[in-house]
Amino acid sequence: MYTALHLQRKLRSGEAEVIVVTPDPYMTYQPFLPEAAAGSISPRHVVVPLRRVLDKCKIVIGEAKSIDHAKRTATVTTLATEEEGTGGMEITYDELVLAPGSVSRTLPIPGLADYAIGFKTVEEAIGLRNHVIEQMDIASATRDPAVRDAALTFVFVGGGYAGVEALGELEDMARYAARYYHNVKPQDMKWILVEATGRILPEVGEEMGKYAIRELRSRNIDVRLETRLDSCADRVAVLSDGSRFPTRTVVWTAGVKPHPVLAASDLPLNGRGRLTATAKLTIEGTEHAWTAGDAAAVPDLTADEKDKECAPNAQHAVRQAKVLAENVLASLRGEPLKNYEHKYAGSVASLGLHKGVAHVYGRKLKGYPAWLMHRTYHLSRVPTFNRKARVLAEWTLAGLFKREIVSLGSLEHPRAEFELAAGGEPPKNK
Ligand SMILES: Cc1cc2nc3c(=O)[nH]c(=O)nc-3n(C[C@H](O)[C@H](O)[C@H](O)COP(=O)(O)OP(=O)(O)OC[C@H]3O[C@@H](n4cnc5c(N)ncnc54)[C@H](O)[C@@H]3O)c2cc1C
Repeated sequence: MYTALHLQRKLRSGEAEVIVVTPDPYMTYQPFLPEAAAGSISPRHVVVPLRRVLDKCKIVIGEAKSIDHAKRTATVTTLATEEEGTGGMEITYDELVLAPGSVSRTLPIPGLADYAIGFKTVEEAIGLRNHVIEQMDIASATRDPAVRDAALTFVFVGGGYAGVEALGELEDMARYAARYYHNVKPQDMKWILVEATGRILPEVGEEMGKYAIRELRSRNIDVRLETRLDSCADRVAVLSDGSRFPTRTVVWTAGVKPHPVLAASDLPLNGRGRLTATAKLTIEGTEHAWTAGDAAAVPDLTADEKDKECAPNAQHAVRQAKVLAENVLASLRGEPLKNYEHKYAGSVASLGLHKGVAHVYGRKLKGYPAWLMHRTYHLSRVPTFNRKARVLAEWTLAGLFKREIVSLGSLEHPRAEFELAAGGEPPKNK
């Protein structure tokens, strides 16, 4: 989206046409997903409508399934091609920008595919929010202690910012919501963070990572380092330290891997499956092919070690997108290309409302100041003035009124009630 936005602004009339192929008609600002899960930002405001923002581009809602760069062709499936039963349509191009991001990196753990949920999309974030509140409703209504215990046990796997922020925000929301339940107390809930290495939040540095562990543990969150999830079959989370937790909630945020469409192309990949990129954001050894973001192994020119790649994060992705667009324009106009060079500025993470941790430009912050910095930083980064204003308005309203604690889980099955009325089967319990 950032590349297309920049191109649309800078292209001269008639110079080129930009086609954006995207499965969803919106761009997701992923760093706001934990706040969306907590109900601090409504789901519509963490996404940016592409048709409105990219009004000079042609938007194709579909998914690139394969790319034959030698023939300058992408095969794209759309809802229409599915309806028609064709295998997809071919889009030919002169220049290719391939930036499909990453997908969750999973492991063959028993039960994972059946019971776990990821945390990369707005649907997952809102689904998880509804699910957590629903578990509190189940716990409040059941007379079976085993059902209650499983409902109130929440296991998060992966201590990077996605896992820690999602857990921090959801625990905070559930703790607040508990005041409206006569028989669910915050201390009845078990929140568990499972991390395979000896630290969490490597992005904020060792000291701040240790602070984050202390802060989470002070809220009774069970942080287990050097521990792995071995199984979650039959809704029992079995950890490598031998402990077993019956649970209805396993959130998997243990890293990302490049999008599978990259392997369905004739473009060069490195050992980790990322596109081999040059510092100019071209794809190595090819012409007229460009890449950026999580999918691209872009050399980090600021690193002391040779061969270091830019880490997969938004900080690099949005900056690369701008340089990429400028380089595409320069190449169209026969001008020299620029190198992408950005020294990692550090990171900010929210651990719940008014709680955070930050290590940015050498400055370490914790608690409220870090949380404020997290909000200010991301507000400055979320694209378009329109989104900024909406998010700010929501935060302001949330400061004036009580938190919203309603679960709209039935939105996921909108026809269920009608089907029942029409004599169908009731939906199976999730
Ligand atoms: C919960 C969470 C919190 C995060 N917090 C931070 C943070 O605080 N700071 C930070 O720097 N980073 C953060 N990140 C990481 C950051 O969001 C990603 O690094 C960044 O979004 C990568 O940008 P991208 O453009 O490469 O990929 P994406 O943002 O994933 O965009 C890729 C797009 O390509 C589309 N696509 C995929 N496949 C196809 C296909 N076959 N055809 C067409 N389109 C396709 C996808 O639908 C998507 O819209 C966070 C991530 C998560 C999940």
